[in-house]
Amino acid sequence: MEPNHKVLIMRCDAYDPERIAGIVKEGMEELGARPSGRVLLKPNLVIAHPERFPHAFTRKEFLDGVISAVKVRAEDVEEIAVGERSGIVIPTRYNFKSSGYRDVINRHKVKTYYFDESRQVPVRLSKEGRLRDSVYVPKPIAQCDYLINLPKFKAHPWCRVTLSLKNLMGLQDDRHRLVDHNLFLEHKIADLQEVIRSKFIAIDGIIAGQKMMLTPTPFPLGAIVMGTNSCAVDTVGCHMVHVNPEDVSHLRLAAERGYGPMSLEEIEVSGDFPLEEVQERTWGFEICFERVDDYFGKDGNLTCTVGTFPEAHSPDYCWGGCPGALQEAMHIFTSFYTDSDKRMKKIQYVVGKVEGPLDLEGDERIIFTGSCTSWEGRIDGEVVKIESSYKTASEVDERKTKSNDMLLKMGTALWNCARNRSSRYIRIEACPVSVAEHLHYLSALGKIKNPNLEPRLMIPVYIAYWRMRASRLLNRFFG
Ligand code: SF4
Repeated sequence: MEPNHKVLIMRCDAYDPERIAGIVKEGMEELGARPSGRVLLKPNLVIAHPERFPHAFTRKEFLDGVISAVKVRAEDVEEIAVGERSGIVIPTRYNFKSSGYRDVINRHKVKTYYFDESRQVPVRLSKEGRLRDSVYVPKPIAQCDYLINLPKFKAHPWCRVTLSLKNLMGLQDDRHRLVDHNLFLEHKIADLQEVIRSKFIAIDGIIAGQKMMLTPTPFPLGAIVMGTNSCAVDTVGCHMVHVNPEDVSHLRLAAERGYGPMSLEEIEVSGDFPLEEVQERTWGFEICFERVDDYFGKDGNLTCTVGTFPEAHSPDYCWGGCPGALQEAMHIFTSFYTDSDKRMKKIQYVVGKVEGPLDLEGDERIIFTGSCTSWEGRIDGEVVKIESSYKTASEVDERKTKSNDMLLKMGTALWNCARNRSSRYIRIEACPVSVAEHLHYLSALGKIKNPNLEPRLMIPVYIAYWRMRASRLLNRFFG
């Protein structure tokens, strides 16, 4: 079979904007990428903080280099902009500042779109196999002519890896992002490919991230990966770290829907960093794709009981929702406060449909997490019945979603904990229960410090929050 897609792997072992600009410009030339019209650069800025989250995001030097290259290659440009919606309800404008993006953007005089402040518009979907008939995206995405996708090369506890296909999750604001962020996460990622296709992709793999997506362990990969088709780029990315592309469900679904290849036979892999040499370097690259009942409980005070789940395609585990959010939250705790998992009070985390008695220790508290969770039994002699309130995708209307506002979430979680402070157990109903909510509940029940309440972080985050609210209000009328 003749390869009809080209992917470049280039050596780059330092965050030097000039060098990155040269490599990306060469890559764009070789791949025939010529941005025009309304050009939008979409980095991965899920969270950014130079000390707490240094390896979670596409670095500012990378963005700097790519903007320089785009300016040289672009033709008939109406606008060059950088847009993103960060994760875990933190205002995107906070992360633009803490990542250093603001300085880069100001220097290059390009536009910024904080997608959580933009007006959200519906886009119709019609591709066979889609999960939904429409999804909401920010207006600048609906108007974009040329999307440049700039992911960070990272492992991911929900999806194994996060590369260019998964990076489109950052298009949606909080209200819409968490819709289907559950057993259907991989289907959702495939749906988003119909909204907009990346015309040029450059992955920041200079320092890659292992295991978690928010608190990854750094790995000096020393590579920039470029291409013009997301499936092709992600397929090569998988092979770079010994992951079988068939095991990455959103890549398989996207390829099945005709968005691109997932076989190396259909891809010409080129560049100055041979794939075999990359693979030699990445033996031992850590992917964390483990169930929480295997992951926790060995030496910390958190144990997990996992039941069964209500969708036929994944009855044994929910890879896209609550369990992965728990893993991310626990890693955030330990990155802020060493040994949080050992210092916290004993907690049993129960998720899914669980049958039979729970194996409880004397003072252990129980969190029944997620709408799909159900259990019936006795706790301290009292009969307890937890019922599932899970809704299938067709029962959830994406036009009538609930707010995922940062303060509302915090207030609701803390109130729920206060109301149940003398109870052995607490019920959290959401699908999914987000990383931010996990942080609140685990800190309240486990009696450990809440990173959300760190004074040094709180003040700039709350300033950004109120500016975000004001700007969103303006955009609702004038955006
Ligand atoms: S409630 Fe949580 S665990 Fe259950 S299906 Fe939803 S996201 Fe998955």
